[in-house]
Amino acid sequence: MGKLGGYAGNILIVDLSTGSISQLPLSGELVTKFLGGAGINARLAYDNIPPRAQPFSPENALVFGVGPLVGTLAPGACKSNITSKSPSSGYLASSGSGHLGMLKYAGYDHVVITGKADKPVYLKIGDDVEIRDAGGVWGKDTWAATDSIWQEVGRHFAVLSIGPAGENLVRDASVIANKYSAFARTGVGAVMGSKNLKAIAAYGSHGVSVAHKERFMTLANDLSRQIASLPFVPRLRQYGTLVSLEPMAQTGSILYKNFRQAAGPEFLQIFDLRKFELGMEHGTRSCLSCPVGCKHYIHWKEGEYAGLSLSLSCAAVATFSAVNCGVMGWPQVLRFAQMCNRLGMDYMSVSGLIAMAIELYEKGIINQSDTGGLALDWDAGTVYTLVHDIAHRKGLGDVLADGLIEASQQIGRGAEDYAIHFKGLSPGGDPRHLSTPIFSLLTNATGHSSHINTTLYGTTRERLVKYCRRLGMTEEDMERILTGPEGYDMARLTKWAEDYSFVLECLGLCQMDWFQRIDISLWADLYSAATGMDMDAAGLLQAAGRGRDMRKAFNIREGATRKDDRMPKRFLTEGVKVGESLRPPLNTAYVDGLITDYYEERGWDPKEGTISRERMMELGASPEEWPAR
Ligand code: SF4
Repeated sequence: MGKLGGYAGNILIVDLSTGSISQLPLSGELVTKFLGGAGINARLAYDNIPPRAQPFSPENALVFGVGPLVGTLAPGACKSNITSKSPSSGYLASSGSGHLGMLKYAGYDHVVITGKADKPVYLKIGDDVEIRDAGGVWGKDTWAATDSIWQEVGRHFAVLSIGPAGENLVRDASVIANKYSAFARTGVGAVMGSKNLKAIAAYGSHGVSVAHKERFMTLANDLSRQIASLPFVPRLRQYGTLVSLEPMAQTGSILYKNFRQAAGPEFLQIFDLRKFELGMEHGTRSCLSCPVGCKHYIHWKEGEYAGLSLSLSCAAVATFSAVNCGVMGWPQVLRFAQMCNRLGMDYMSVSGLIAMAIELYEKGIINQSDTGGLALDWDAGTVYTLVHDIAHRKGLGDVLADGLIEASQQIGRGAEDYAIHFKGLSPGGDPRHLSTPIFSLLTNATGHSSHINTTLYGTTRERLVKYCRRLGMTEEDMERILTGPEGYDMARLTKWAEDYSFVLECLGLCQMDWFQRIDISLWADLYSAATGMDMDAAGLLQAAGRGRDMRKAFNIREGATRKDDRMPKRFLTEGVKVGESLRPPLNTAYVDGLITDYYEERGWDPKEGTISRERMMELGASPEEWPAR
């Protein structure tokens, strides 16, 4: 295959044990089968992480990927992905964020890092690639470390850093880009820490060329205009993802006290968006090439938190995570977010860990002899203490630092029932209010959201048909999917919505729902204009399907079975009061039936969720490596 537009064309390979640095050409096979970004990362992870390697062993690999549209003027083309083996679940780790487009400008689509440095280091990727001493920054939080590295390499570098949590192998440790944008989920920061890799600094000046410049710019401008003119965009610029809090609260999807109580009207009084604005000065921030800008620089002005400053991504996630473990009020949430960000930890899972601990204490399953004398309560003071202690592995924090699965097992005494997780990750929303995004938590390889949104399809037949067309379905597909009492088969629809979203992820586009309002055929046109390769919507979806199967194959090789696609017990046994009515627990047989439908739609074995030998051969993965069943 000749040189394609969009792609830099190279994979950087770094072995931290030996110090060896080399590069490989990005093969045409990888591109045609898996597109880029998270898709190619899945295959590189499968190839570079030996079966049953321990997540913290030098054999584990960290694979960075930047999609083919990143670095171009395509709207929202800023997202990169880190894939590895997760210390939270023992299965695939994958986390995405903005601010790593510099890798493309430095000449690389992917970076594979294996081994373990014998002392703290950081990786400088520019015209040359160097492994540099990080002795002076080890121990610093993500902000201080980033500032120190900027002093050494220059402010023009993008810096990805771990904090004390990553250094201390806290299983929910994140990687923070440019002091605020987080690769938060599945513990990729802990894998970096296990390799003594404090940071990556990247800068390049190569630019990214596209094959058909005029066509590309016409399409990119048109798509930018379409997205920027969506009616809710001005509010998004003002409040970011906080705009979702009101609808979430109204549907009882914001939960308190370890997912036991739904937020009522008092929530919207405490978290009034006008109070948020009054209490702060803020500026909008945006990822590379985004026509929206849903992030903010925040400086709190009032009361005991006056002077609190941070740049915030996913403000809604920070808010509902903090609320679940008892943090109430805007500045209190901002403080929680700032601590997690500086220490380098995932808001959602840290909140799940703390909520579990407080509930265990409340129920007398743990007491002050387990907490080192600390009385745990649903308040910000308890939460801040535990956030600090988890990051530094102090007291009870040392147990919680091992993640929801292992921490609950270590505590024992039935604690596992209070560890609310999907493959080790704490969820958002109320899973009892089942919808495609929640259902996807069950079946995807990482336990993390697949970035699909229920509000996109609505309930009328007409809107559903429109939505399905946008996802690239044929009339025949719709006949199979638009059936049943709800007007659609949730499980089968989930598969299509996931694949659409994964196309965006592979191309390096933002997956926020406003980018999913575009017909997939237009993204195919844009990709074709960028690369010079003819690609239609069906081709993009097939590649996304391969990428998701590759992730599944990774887990199957590690021993995953249908049992791993499990709903936390709480949501199958306890209802929750929403307003005046009781939302009942989910029906186990109903959920099981959905899982079977989903497996069938993906072409997986409905009993085991395994992938056929033929499909494995197509993916280039070897079924011989699978454990005996
Ligand atoms: S919508 Fe928000 S998260 Fe997405 S690219 Fe734009 S600024 Fe970044």
